[in-house]
Formats: sequence, C-alpha cells, structure tokens
Amino acid sequence: MSELVFTRIRNTAGKLGLPHLAETINEYTRRADEGKMGYLDFLDLVLSEELAVRDDRRFRQGLRLSRLPHHKTLDEYDFSFQPELDPRQVKDLATPSFVEGKANAALLGPPGVGKTHIAVALAVAACRAGYSIYFTSLDDMVRNLKAAEAAGRMTNKLGTYLRPSVLVVDEVGYQPLERAEANLVFQVISKRYEKGSIILTSNKTFSEWGQVFGDEVLATAILDRLLHHCDVISINGPSYRLKNRLAAIERDQESAA
Ligand code: ADP
Ligand code: MG
Repeated sequence: MSELVFTRIRNTAGKLGLPHLAETINEYTRRADEGKMGYLDFLDLVLSEELAVRDDRRFRQGLRLSRLPHHKTLDEYDFSFQPELDPRQVKDLATPSFVEGKANAALLGPPGVGKTHIAVALAVAACRAGYSIYFTSLDDMVRNLKAAEAAGRMTNKLGTYLRPSVLVVDEVGYQPLERAEANLVFQVISKRYEKGSIILTSNKTFSEWGQVFGDEVLATAILDRLLHHCDVISINGPSYRLKNRLAAIERDQESAA
C-alpha cells in the first residue's frame, strides 16, 4: 500500500472516531491478502471488528461508571447450592426483554445466599447488552439524596438514580428509615415506574417494609409501583459465606474428637 494512501486512511479513520482501524490497517490488509478476501468480505471484516471493539469499550466504560462492587456473572453462581431456586427464572432476567420492558426484580432472603451476586450479574448482563447501569445500597442513595437536598442540588442528584436503564438498589431493610428518608426513596421508585428497571435486594419480607420505611402507607405506595411489573425471587437456602467456614469448623471438631 502506498504510504500516502496509508496515511490518508489513518487520518480519515481518526476523524471518523475509529482509532482501532487507524491502528490496525496493516493487520486488516494482511488478513485480506492471506484469506484472498473479496471486497465485500473485507468491508464486512473491518466493520464488524470495529463494532466489536466499540461495544467492548462501551461495556468496560459502563462497568467503570456503574459503581458495582464486583463484576461476578451468573456463570459463577452455583445454582446447585440453592436447589429451590429456579435457574431459568433468574436467567430470564439476564435477557434484553427484562430491561426493554422496564421490569423490576426483587431478590429476597437472609444474608449470604447470593442476592447481591445475582443482582450484580444481572446488571453486568444488561451492561453487556448496551444498557446503562448503576449500583447503590439503599443507605448510600438516601444519604446522597439528603445531602443533595440540603445543598439545593436535588434535581441533579435524582438524575443519578433516574437516568440509568437499570438501577440496582442493594440492602433494602438493613437500617430502618425515617419518614423524610422514606419519602426520598418513594420519589426514586415512583419516578422510575415504567421508565426504567430496578433490581433490589432485601433481607426483609414485603410485609416488614412498613417497619423499614417507618410508615405503612408510604411502604404500600412504594410496593404498589415496584411490584406492578416485578419478578420476586426468594432465596431461602443456606448461606454460601458460611459454607466453607462451617465445613472447616466441622473438620476441626472431627479431628479433635
Ligand atoms: P447476599 O447479598 O445474599 O448477602 P452475596 O451475594 O454477597 O450474598 O454472597 C456472599 C458471597 O458468596 C459472595 O462472594 C458471592 O459471590 C458468594 N455466593 C453466594 N451464593 C453463591 C452461589 N450459590 N454460588 C457461588 N457463589 C455464591
Ligand atoms: Mg448482599
């Protein structure tokens, strides 16, 4: 390839926002020569690789901005450890139709059963599919909204929780809220209603939410919007965190006996 054409392609690719193409023209043309590619196949190769590179960049950028505590996937979740949990019900939520339908999911159960793991995995899947995601604990969200309200920046901060296609609200019910705090939660839930998905985790049953939100009427109003389009997944098996610890303790006891 003449140096002039090479330089021009590189410049044009840069202007078109295709930095990967600009860096890999030689690689592409080598593969075209080796594969004796026709024009269409060559164009197909270049365009599909550029799209893959761009999707991957967007995915990694989305994960960086999401505040997820980790990036575990459903493949890393051992469903055999929770035999009462239907893997199909969970895996159905990792499809684009969940996000497109602005549906919600609630993961309920005691500590250590993998509620956060599954919520994160569903968010990672949505991010992979091109949707924006954001992770927060309920307490952090309430604290941030209160601070924003006091500083007169409420609208701006609400946007953090309203903009993403999928909002993960972790640990609902660990701390009881005051009425004004519960009201902030209601604002987020009602403004997202039928506009964007919420995935939440809680160690409390819905009947206990009156205590969590300090007000039965407010809790009912929140549940009303949340549950209208919601998959409820209850995980009531043993704690995975304790699994290895208990096995180790039993081993110690056996060897001591
Ligand atoms: P929860 O949010 O219900 O308290 P987590 O999702 O934080 O529980 O899970 C605790 C730890 O155990 C995490 O490291 C998680 O990845 C792991 N874990 C829980 N359940 C499973 C499982 N069935 N298979 C694999 N890892 C699991
Ligand atoms: Mg958790």
